[in-house]
Amino acid sequence: TIYNFGSINLDHLYQLDHFVRPGETMASNSYQCLLGGKGANQSVALAKAGARVKHVGAIHYNDQAIIKQLESLGVDTALIEKIDVPTGHAIIQLNKEAENSIILYQGANHALTEEQVDQVLSQASAGDWVLLQNETNLIEYTMRKAQEHGVKVAFNPAPMDAELTKKVLGFVDLLIVNEVEAMDLIGTSDIDSTIAAFPKAYPELTVLITLGKAGVCYFSGKESAGKEKLFVKAFSVKAVDTTAAGDTFIGFCLASLMNGDDITQSITRACAASAICVTRLGAASSIPTQDEVTAFLAK
Ligand code: ADP
Repeated sequence: TIYNFGSINLDHLYQLDHFVRPGETMASNSYQCLLGGKGANQSVALAKAGARVKHVGAIHYNDQAIIKQLESLGVDTALIEKIDVPTGHAIIQLNKEAENSIILYQGANHALTEEQVDQVLSQASAGDWVLLQNETNLIEYTMRKAQEHGVKVAFNPAPMDAELTKKVLGFVDLLIVNEVEAMDLIGTSDIDSTIAAFPKAYPELTVLITLGKAGVCYFSGKESAGKEKLFVKAFSVKAVDTTAAGDTFIGFCLASLMNGDDITQSITRACAASAICVTRLGAASSIPTQDEVTAFLAK
């Protein structure tokens, strides 16, 4: 089982001719309300990839439709609290140039309590994983408790907080970052020198760096994982929307590793899943199924 301590957001999307200016009131050309949040997206990707995923988080008690939607996608929602705090949400303006401007409200995503963490982890056993992004609270506490219970920790520090991330790296069994997050962590503005610097700066760490359409880089500092270095190329596809590419990658890669596949197989499956994702519009709705990934790889 993988316990994903993750954000759940309602993404309110408005298509506008231009971003609203100070003092301006403007009618929107269209409106959509979609399930989002890196946490929820990664739970959906894990479930679609065939993993047993229990999402840990909170929403407002009036937003039960979210629970139904996550359940219908295969996510176990028993550990999602229904509380008297607004559900996390994003107000997203999309202009004609397809740029966005986003207001984020954390709300219930920051309502996790130490008691809840303790209760969840008391059900976990060795062989289980905990997954965290950086959109919820009590990250360090949760990791420390996971380690005490012998549960492995995967961390996707997005949005990046370099100070927090450096502080908790000792608890992390697998770090997953994109190009920008990797550069922020190393403190350089060039990806090639960042990749070269990573194993030197963090010799003990196992890390996956996703490089967009270039592919994925993997370092394993741990002796138990064989001190490997790998580079896997992305699949060549026509990208139309890269939203949730990273979340899809993380879900499929972890599901594959938990299924006993080796790291090269897991990265390859995850690259195929995220390549399909970028050919489709949308976030959670663009994440493919296991069968679609298998068919893609058989081509
Ligand atoms: P994030 O969405 O977190 O910024 P990336 O952009 O690195 O993450 O994308 C994650 C993975 O998705 C990549 O490692 C790659 O396998 C795949 N991917 C992203 N963009 C493309 C693309 N244009 N073509 C093919 N694969 C892509």
